[in-house]
Amino acid sequence: MTLLRSTVRYNRREGVWEMRCASCASAGQTTAWWELSTDLWDPSSGLLKCRACLNLAKRLRRRQSAEERRAKQRAYYRDHRAERLAWRHAYHAANKERINAERRAKYAAAKEQRAHAETLWELAADG
Ligand SMILES: [Zn+2]
Repeated sequence: MTLLRSTVRYNRREGVWEMRCASCASAGQTTAWWELSTDLWDPSSGLLKCRACLNLAKRLRRRQSAEERRAKQRAYYRDHRAERLAWRHAYHAANKERINAERRAKYAAAKEQRAHAETLWELAADG
């Protein structure tokens, strides 16, 4: 069982409100309490980590190499391949008529274009 403690405290000596950064505390910093100001805390990021910890996380994400990102994407694809295929089969089964009609129309258009190109070639050969 963990003891719930407030993450905000009042520092009487300095006369300021301070907030505890859990990330700094787990990283073994000498202090994890920082003055509650927008200089040290970003209110739009949930106030769970101080700005230094947020910037560090951002830097580490940016430093992740392209190869590492690709490996991660490949692993994600591999892990979700079966459900993607299942979804695809279900989608095709549900939309079979429409998909086949689109393919027939596309094939007919291409056939017409080929016939047109052949007549152009014949005209060029004759003339
Ligand atoms: Zn921190």
